[in-house]
Amino acid sequence: MTGEAGAPAVSSGWVRIIDLHKSFGAHEVLRGISLDVEPGQVVCIIGASGSGKSTLLRCVNRLEDPTSGQVVVDGVDLTDPDCELDEARAHMGMVFQQFNLFPHRTALGNVTLAPRKVLGRSAAEADEVGRRCLADVGLAERADAYPSQLSGGQQQRVAIARALAMDPDIMLFDEPTSALDPELVGDVLEVMRDLARRGMTMLVVTHEMAFAREVADRVVFMDEGVVCEEGPPAQVLSEPREPRTREFLARVL
Ligand code: ADP
Ligand code: MG
Repeated sequence: MTGEAGAPAVSSGWVRIIDLHKSFGAHEVLRGISLDVEPGQVVCIIGASGSGKSTLLRCVNRLEDPTSGQVVVDGVDLTDPDCELDEARAHMGMVFQQFNLFPHRTALGNVTLAPRKVLGRSAAEADEVGRRCLADVGLAERADAYPSQLSGGQQQRVAIARALAMDPDIMLFDEPTSALDPELVGDVLEVMRDLARRGMTMLVVTHEMAFAREVADRVVFMDEGVVCEEGPPAQVLSEPREPRTREFLARVL
């Protein structure tokens, strides 16, 4: 836990996953995952459907309770029963495959909701930050549009802006482009590339191998609840050591 007097300052945007296990009933979905993401790093997680990628991300921000193991974010052990979960979660932005915008709120209304409700920002403050975040994702002009008036790619960019409005230290992405028509994927990836360039710590589950190759500092290949192989993208994607990585890449590339 942080907060003890004299505890060393921990740099921002730092995730340490230690021997994480998660079972649903008798089904052990995560079987001892250890993974570090350092400040400013982009780590891309690849792997077949059902390998546990979403469960891992959901354990990182404690949408799921791990069965055992630790998740430490910026020095705060999220698996500690005394952990202030809401406080810890406020530092993590999560973007899902489905954008989950509130349909009856405008883009700006979606982006300002959590800063007002969770951070207690005034409407004026939240609007200012919200407009800046919408501008960051290229949607300054669409602040007053409702989700139904936006393309899937624009909706996903609003979802990213909504996460950024909480001023997160870490962004978690779970297949953010998988639900999009192919022609809309590029704009969303460009926003993510830009975030990475600006030094955001990112943990990204993706099937976009070109993105992983270009943007990731490390690529992690998950298979049946374990990290089968990890390393720099050029190594994992071009010269995989593990037969299971090779088989997976042969199927998706
Ligand atoms: P991925 O994201 O890699 O496709 P998931 O983490 O979604 O994999 O799922 C891994 C396995 O865990 C799957 O077999 C899935 O059916 C199972 N699973 C995920 N969530 C639940 C849940 N809430 N209850 C029971 N089983 C689950
Ligand atoms: Mg998934």
